[in-house]
Amino acid sequence: MTEKESIQSKQLLSTRRRLLSVDDYVQGVMNGNRAIIAQAITIVESNLPKHMEMAQKVLKELIPYTGKSVRIGFTGVPGAGKSTLIESFGMMLCEQNHRVAVLAVDPSSSVSKGSILGDKTRMEHLSRHPHAYVRPSPSSGTLGGVTRKSRETLLICEAAGYDVIIVETVGVGQSEVTVQSMVDFFLVIMLTGAGDELQGMKKGVMEFADAIFINKADGENKQAAMNAKVEYNRLLHFIQPITEGWETKAFTVSALTGEGVAHIWKVIQKYKQVTSMNGFFGKRRKEQMIDWVHSMIEDQLKARFYGNPSMKKNITKMEGLLLNGHTSPTLAVQQLFNIYDENG
Ligand code: GDP
Repeated sequence: MTEKESIQSKQLLSTRRRLLSVDDYVQGVMNGNRAIIAQAITIVESNLPKHMEMAQKVLKELIPYTGKSVRIGFTGVPGAGKSTLIESFGMMLCEQNHRVAVLAVDPSSSVSKGSILGDKTRMEHLSRHPHAYVRPSPSSGTLGGVTRKSRETLLICEAAGYDVIIVETVGVGQSEVTVQSMVDFFLVIMLTGAGDELQGMKKGVMEFADAIFINKADGENKQAAMNAKVEYNRLLHFIQPITEGWETKAFTVSALTGEGVAHIWKVIQKYKQVTSMNGFFGKRRKEQMIDWVHSMIEDQLKARFYGNPSMKKNITKMEGLLLNGHTSPTLAVQQLFNIYDENG
């Protein structure tokens, strides 16, 4: 930040409670002013109607400047080494003059009010690097709400000139599907040694991975990681790759020693080249945009239906009738919708 920018942002931020003008947000973001980027993301994450309205005005101005980054999803179970690997990968990219933003989608914050991704200071070096911006997960709301916020935050980071956006999530259920639906390339971090690595959820997540990186391939664990790589590659042959024209493969990496970290970027660059040539890169982004709109429609319909005070009463009443054997589930739903339509 230049001295002028610094004075400007201090003046602007001294009135923290007041919103800036649309133009101040837009210019600040476009100039890469970190304090204003943070402010803009704060209004995107806010649930206050006046913030939401402002956020949409700002986003509307910024949209033409978005879309130029590579969006990468990182997932893995807690302890897989996500933050260590993202830090190592991000630092490498910053040193190559890339600008890296790291966002998180943490579904646990909406359930437990705590966070699996952790309140501990993560990615200490990367978050201090002038080319990087690390933003924790929005701290409250449904997964749908967190998703909207993360998608819009991603757009703000792109308009601010970050050319690599990493979206991190924990390897638990729905949040992986969500992150996969907002990135170009989905990277799954695996561990070896657990013995059950090819089962259950892990197998499920392989179906939408663009690459698998087996982390902690160092020291005594190195050989086991190499064996796991062979095994994953064997299994991947039986899985239809999620991306047209791209073969999902497994690799080993060590976030600790750095071995294999440069290869992550090589794989992603290759992926970008292949999918840009066959048109899939743009196709996926268009589909994601359309899916985003539909998932917001679903969220809003749900919120309106359940949020309507007369529906709340009638749902309770209908549940009683259902449990007492006076109606069927289908009839109950039909009647509830009739009531909703009349009140709508
Ligand atoms: P996260 O919960 O997925 O973000 O995992 P962390 O990045 O916090 O890492 C969990 C633990 O694994 C920490 O103690 C790290 O130091 C360790 N770790 C991460 N990557 C590696 C690696 O490549 N090799 C080894 N040996 N340990 C690692």
